[in-house]
Amino acid sequence: MAEESGEEYLFKIVLIGDSAVGKSNLLSRFARDEFDHNSKATIGVEFQTQVLEVDGKEVKAQVWDTAGQERFRAVTSAYYRGAVGALIVYDITRRTTFDSVKRWLDELNTHCDTAVTRMLVGNKRDLESIREVRTEEGTELAEEEGMFFIETSALDSTNVSKAFEIVIRDIYEKVSRKIL
Ligand code: GDP
Ligand code: MG
Repeated sequence: MAEESGEEYLFKIVLIGDSAVGKSNLLSRFARDEFDHNSKATIGVEFQTQVLEVDGKEVKAQVWDTAGQERFRAVTSAYYRGAVGALIVYDITRRTTFDSVKRWLDELNTHCDTAVTRMLVGNKRDLESIREVRTEEGTELAEEEGMFFIETSALDSTNVSKAFEIVIRDIYEKVSRKIL
């Protein structure tokens, strides 16, 4: 869903990745500048809309959260429908969540066009002392798969707005050039 009506833009962006990597907290940090220590509190939120200005134009980013359904390995096709951007999130302190990235990408590819903007997000970078996935591993995978890459912390806010903004700007450029 990259709707352009006059000067209005609405982009649907999905968050995917294993359970407990920090998807809901990345979204609440981005949309409300809040962090939630109780992971259950955010279950049920479908999406949140954040308004940004790109190139002097108003852009509405509608960011969807799985709201816990990834636990059952059953993210529905409706979730992906119309998405023009995706953040694939893993937890830098849990290698299994990094190993799952390829599976999430496969799922994304079955539902979405290759033009959809993708960003690989290594979250929880505040937990450097218990890191299991090196930054270079993220960089390499992102290069292989043609994704942007960033490491974030929803806890201390590092790079959270930046992650979303890079994705939104890229979508905006593709929409302007009629690629999306
Ligand atoms: P989701 O299942 O992917 O939506 O993950 P949540 O956002 O619910 O977060 C799972 C757990 O990780 C919660 O206990 C959060 O408080 C914690 N968490 C999320 N992001 C970070 C982060 O950047 N740093 C740290 N230290 N903990 C985080
Ligand atoms: Mg969640």
